[in-house]
Amino acid sequence: MAMLNNQMDDGADENGQDESKEVDQFLVSDGLDEIDKTYETDSNDIFVSNDDFIEAIFGHVANDSIHKPLVCSISGDPNKKNRWHPKSWPCDTNDPEKNWYVCPSIFEPSKDGTYKAQKKLAHFVHCAMLDDIGTKIPMEKIANIHVSWLLETSPGNFQAGFIFKEPIDTKTAYSLKQAMLGAGLSDKGSSGATVRWMRMPQAINGKAAYGSPSPRCRMRKWSPDHRAAVADLVKVFDLKMGTPSKTKNQSKPSTSFGASSSPGFIGVYEPKPYENSVITALKNRGLYKSSLGNGRHDITCPWVAEHTDQIDHGSCYFEPSNEYPIGGFKCQHSHGDLYKISKLLEFLEVAEVAARHKSIITVVPGELSRIVEAAEIEIDSTNQYFQSGGGIVSVHRDPQTRQTIVKPLTQPALAMQLSKLCIWLRYSKQTRTYEFCDPPSRHITSLFDAENYLHLKPLLGIAR
Ligand SMILES: [Zn+2]
Repeated sequence: MAMLNNQMDDGADENGQDESKEVDQFLVSDGLDEIDKTYETDSNDIFVSNDDFIEAIFGHVANDSIHKPLVCSISGDPNKKNRWHPKSWPCDTNDPEKNWYVCPSIFEPSKDGTYKAQKKLAHFVHCAMLDDIGTKIPMEKIANIHVSWLLETSPGNFQAGFIFKEPIDTKTAYSLKQAMLGAGLSDKGSSGATVRWMRMPQAINGKAAYGSPSPRCRMRKWSPDHRAAVADLVKVFDLKMGTPSKTKNQSKPSTSFGASSSPGFIGVYEPKPYENSVITALKNRGLYKSSLGNGRHDITCPWVAEHTDQIDHGSCYFEPSNEYPIGGFKCQHSHGDLYKISKLLEFLEVAEVAARHKSIITVVPGELSRIVEAAEIEIDSTNQYFQSGGGIVSVHRDPQTRQTIVKPLTQPALAMQLSKLCIWLRYSKQTRTYEFCDPPSRHITSLFDAENYLHLKPLLGIAR
């Protein structure tokens, strides 16, 4: 075993945010042979493009997906300060003369619509990476375990990756990370599990310690179809999964849009931000002028330079409505037909899902109670519904008799309200992305038939 004592990895310390060395594995393989042979053969690297690498981990990611992987490229020595500027993927990753990194999680946009490598924005975790194999961690630790990839990141030093069968929530990722630490499979100095820069294959390792020319990363083993469930990793490494010991620092709820963070909701419920993300982005760019009422806003056209005499007037942003679910943009100048709302969103870097300005509920297996609670919070937020006699009711005034009527909410009406109130997402195994769905009937029934309600206000009496 080559015990190179050089500075091993990578990425973790540099971006000033949440670093995390992350770790794990899965299925037991038949023997040691595969890995031993591959990493000992110098000439034997496997060509995998950076895009193929990312796609194998995250599946197809559409340009307008709300959840995106983050990549980062750095010329030269990544240890120099202020060099970490993550970008959302898809993007151009074809420059093998740079250091290239990707995070194991998909991220939601921050409040201003941009993507940042922050724990609180990590949504689901698609893989885990064991770092410093062959140096800090003996190769024997993974010798009889199937990895999804084994990347030689500098001579004799490897990162082993494990793609999850299904993405895991951030809370589980932290528990797994703690268990890995406990089993001596990870550097104690690192603690995160969601923001963790993993090296990509078509890249150099530009650390000054490795001299010039910088060594290239070499893919030594590439088996993206080898995928692990957390249970596989627990079994194969004999891990003790418990409550994470540092939950206060680590498992921030993934209420990505940040507005009202509800402790306990992780990766399931994202309350909508107080302010529409499009308006926030317009303000941040100095394009916002004033509200015109009725959801219309006077703004500076981003393409004002194309107006005759550069006249800055006659451009309007419309908030989302039933008719225009992602809102609208109208410029009265001659290019008005060219620049529609999708162009404005593209310019502002606001995802279409964020432009809808609704809360997001993600249907995750095993999270029935938290999803139902999130749905109850949404129904309560309308201030139109109350709990009464063990059910949900609405209060109306009959326009003819002027009598106040208490009307029980039916189950179909509850489903309809919840479909209007929030965006429902579900993970698709086929496309490996989150897709829109209707509120699942199981969750609707659970809310409808709940024994008690935690959030809905009781209807105490009616002021006549
Ligand atoms: Zn214009």
